Amino acid sequence: MRLIIMGPPGVGKGAKSKLLIKQYQIPHISTGDIFRELFSGDYEIGKIAKSYVDRGALVPDDITNEIVRQRLNQADVQKGFLFDGYPRNIEQAEALEQFMKDKGWKIDAVFNVQADDNILVKRISGRRVCKTCGAVYHIENNKPKVEGICDLDGGKLIQRVDDREETISHRIKIYQQQTKPVISWYEDKNLLVHIDGSKDINHTNEQIMKVLGEIN
Ligand code: AMP
Ligand code: ZN
Repeated sequence: MRLIIMGPPGVGKGAKSKLLIKQYQIPHISTGDIFRELFSGDYEIGKIAKSYVDRGALVPDDITNEIVRQRLNQADVQKGFLFDGYPRNIEQAEALEQFMKDKGWKIDAVFNVQADDNILVKRISGRRVCKTCGAVYHIENNKPKVEGICDLDGGKLIQRVDDREETISHRIKIYQQQTKPVISWYEDKNLLVHIDGSKDINHTNEQIMKVLGEIN
């Protein structure tokens, strides 16, 4: 299975991705995660990416597409994958299409998870992540057992710089302007599957499983 999951920041793409990769035993390719991993090393490209990510802007396409192109050459993704957070604009969608052609592959389905803007801001501003393992919590909806501490490894929970309230509206605006056109682009190719992200996770999982049953 070669899948893509799309949706505005805060809609819960990460949680839904987990279900998909477990179901299909496919690797998760999150460009956001790749960029965050690059921050921790002493890489020039990591520094460049950080300057965009921290202010909620898109990392330039030439960098992003090249990272994806290299990732697609690795052994674990040859049989399938789930893209999360890529493509984020039409230029990237076109680049991905070319990568698929070069490999003789095609995308099987694109999940579009939707929710109202007011829900999104609440979800993102309350989000906390473990500094050590990256596990995601929420200060109201998904509290850790001990405040500020990761249940899994005792790591400190922090707020992503780009999850601060002043950056969120910028990320949502970029999503509306640049990423939404990609949704129509995939709709025209009959690949789009709509998922309601405003309901609780069990409900969403049910919807996803139902659709997957139909694709299979
Ligand atoms: P995410 O974890 O998907 O919310 O991504 C976090 C940040 O990483 C985004 O706000 C962007 O700054 C950057 N990023 C992730 N994926 C892409 C992409 N496909 N194109 C450009 N920038 C990206
Ligand atoms: Zn942790």
